[in-house]
Amino acid sequence: MQAANEAYYAKGDPLGAKGDFITAPEVSQMFGELIGLWLTDLWIRAGRPQDCKYVELGPGRGTLAADALRSMKQFDFAPEVYFVETSAALREMQARAVPDANFLSNVGDLPFDVPMFIIANEFFDALPIRQLIATHAGWRERVVVRDRGTKFMATPGMTAMDELVPADFRNGPSPTIYETCPAATSIMYDLAGRIAEQGGAMLIADYGYTLPGIGSTLQAVRAHEFADPFENPGEHDLTAHVNFDELGNLARMRQLHVSGPIEQGVWLKALGIDSRLQVLAAKQPERTDELSSARDRLVEATGMGSLFKILAISNPDWPIPEGFEINQSLG
Ligand code: SAH
Repeated sequence: MQAANEAYYAKGDPLGAKGDFITAPEVSQMFGELIGLWLTDLWIRAGRPQDCKYVELGPGRGTLAADALRSMKQFDFAPEVYFVETSAALREMQARAVPDANFLSNVGDLPFDVPMFIIANEFFDALPIRQLIATHAGWRERVVVRDRGTKFMATPGMTAMDELVPADFRNGPSPTIYETCPAATSIMYDLAGRIAEQGGAMLIADYGYTLPGIGSTLQAVRAHEFADPFENPGEHDLTAHVNFDELGNLARMRQLHVSGPIEQGVWLKALGIDSRLQVLAAKQPERTDELSSARDRLVEATGMGSLFKILAISNPDWPIPEGFEINQSLG
């Protein structure tokens, strides 16, 4: 998955109607703008600390950052920008969207000693997962092999992996699958530690599950259609659902405040997406239908509103982030 996605993102821009998939910031400027205002509110209530950094993980085309930074600037909040991005082709697009951005390949290279505002939209789902599978001989890792030298396929590996499966799931019948994402675990633990020491907050928007569970969530998408993840590696976008339960717990281990996860639609409404829609539509009445269908796509359950979740983590000495006070229990 890691090798396939590296090749896939290295090729260039996968986003948009002509690409393979579309993300919230590409649906409407309202998404990035509201995130920018959410950050500004937190920054103002924290007493406008100087030397903050805006950090984005996997910024795609740079659209979210450009929209967020524009709305932040109206309140004289103009932090230095760091993009964590591995694809050279996407870095070029991001540099056009945000010309003064600094680029890094690893979160470990982010600056120390300054508060950070970290955004990750559809980043964690692109990180490589590992799957464990129950076989009649016990739990094994699912490894990828080549079927008669042509097609890739998944098969149980040789080494016993029973110890890695939580006790609640260990008695699952063959072929129960248990997924982990070590890359997500290490990035989250690292960044949560930074927020604990340096101050600031992090916002994660993605699709995923909010309680530990079983089953494969690996999926391949090409040209807005599902595809076989084992075919044509590097030609499809490979993703897996994000384990929000684990991400929140890692932040709690670092004594951070955890807000959410709540549904993206609920959060965007709490932040005032409908007021923003009215303002934009009043400025450009000819775009009213387009704007309101973009709003529906972001907010409603028929679009991204329920599938996508928002999780925020923040330094416990900082103000509590906005938009999460709605008590929503997610299964
Ligand atoms: N956030 C953007 C793009 C999502 S696609 C949006 O919402 O439109 C995933 C992004 O993560 C791409 O920019 C991809 O190049 C980047 N990416 C994937 N794996 C990465 C890794 N291990 N390190 C840094 N960036 C990564």
